[in-house]
Amino acid sequence: MIIEEQAKIIGAVTEVATKVEIYCPNCGRDVDETELSAKKCNDCGTDLSQPEQHVAVAVTSVPAFAITF
Ligand SMILES: [Zn+2]
Repeated sequence: MIIEEQAKIIGAVTEVATKVEIYCPNCGRDVDETELSAKKCNDCGTDLSQPEQHVAVAVTSVPAFAITF
């Protein structure tokens, strides 16, 4: 599942857009909202209470950095 959030104002002037991708920590498959709320991967049955999340942050549409939790 990919959650995209378009440009919003953080603080006074910084404009950022974030994109969060959520993967199964076991098989690495993109999970959807249903699987996430059920906390279970439909493919491998892994518990998704702590899914793998990749957050990309873009400032003024130029990717600045990516954080992996
Ligand atoms: Zn899985």
